Amino acid sequence: MLDYFYRLLKENNLRITPQRKAILEILYNCRGHHLGAENIYELLTAKDNDKKIGLATVYRTLELFEKIGIVSKLSMENSSARYELIMYDKLVHHHLICLKCGQLEELDDRIAEEFKNRILEDKGFEVANKSMKIYGYCSNCRLN
Ligand SMILES: [Zn+2]
Ligand SMILES: [Zn+2]
Repeated sequence: MLDYFYRLLKENNLRITPQRKAILEILYNCRGHHLGAENIYELLTAKDNDKKIGLATVYRTLELFEKIGIVSKLSMENSSARYELIMYDKLVHHHLICLKCGQLEELDDRIAEEFKNRILEDKGFEVANKSMKIYGYCSNCRLN
């Protein structure tokens, strides 16, 4: 599975450096989650102290990955951006973001289908197949 991403790097004339490899591995092992650059940095340093990757390198690598379509970046309203691998076999999904604790949950596009249809009916506006961010309060925060 990681081979697919290595291939993307090669197609873009980018070398598979140990740093890029390590960051890819973390993103892959944490798929389904949405990590900030700091999280990735922490995981990198916790795993292997002698790899010596600076936070700036993590940011630069993530930017690069975004540019060539390896990760998608999720800008957040009140915290730092999160990143996730773009899996070719995964359908478009949306994000439910808790304003209180920052928890991020994925929402299947099929659930959003009805909402999109309503917008089309009411406004004549066709929602493109892009990820939506929906802000609110998660089940934990709502009850406490
Ligand atoms: Zn919450
Ligand atoms: Zn996601």
